[in-house]
Amino acid sequence: MTILLYQTDSYLRTFDATITKLAQDDQGIILDQTMFYPGGGGQPSDSGKITIENKDYTVKHARKQGLNVIHVLSDNVPYLDVNIPIKGEIDWERRYQLMRTHTAMHILCGVIFRDYGASVTGGSMDPLKGRMDFEFETMHKDLVQTIEAEVNLEVINARPVKVAVLPREEAFQIPDLIRTKINLLPEGIKQVRVVEIEGLDLQADGGTHVNNTSEVGQIRIVDYKSKGKINKRIYIKLDE
Ligand SMILES: [Zn+2]
Repeated sequence: MTILLYQTDSYLRTFDATITKLAQDDQGIILDQTMFYPGGGGQPSDSGKITIENKDYTVKHARKQGLNVIHVLSDNVPYLDVNIPIKGEIDWERRYQLMRTHTAMHILCGVIFRDYGASVTGGSMDPLKGRMDFEFETMHKDLVQTIEAEVNLEVINARPVKVAVLPREEAFQIPDLIRTKINLLPEGIKQVRVVEIEGLDLQADGGTHVNNTSEVGQIRIVDYKSKGKINKRIYIKLDE
């Protein structure tokens, strides 16, 4: 099982770890702990490098396999024993852009639910851009401009973003979490990680976020599209 260091501190860039297993078939290394986000919840995985015995290896991406994170290297994995210590470093520029983008998406969710009662049905992101689908009947230019203004007001409001891990029973008591379909969580999951934008949004979420909405910077809604009678897609972009 890989300990997910980014779940408790998303601002760490480097870390020490030990190799626990090699996945030779796809040039992957499994570590006892990691800062590499393995992708999920619409957020793509981190990239970066791992240093093993003074040699750097590029980590193309990481992915989850059961309770482990496989770090997929661009070079052939050298012959290694388990228990070898390594140093890891994520591509911080990319990761920080993804943290800002992910929090921007939650601001958008929070504003649209608060002001229009519309739930999110899906979404995905890349560094500095994302798209989200909402249960919305009609979307038009004036409405988009209003939403954009409200979203940027929440950036200016500098709301703290807090992460907590709660026992399943406790999380299930929170009405805001129930609307984000927390009841779909598999039975086996005993703890729920929740990400809260204070006073605006609360979600069960495994991703990495900034500590304050002010770090997101200006959010532009660059496009919108109808994806069905009750499904509207909104596209956002952030500044560099
Ligand atoms: Zn999220």
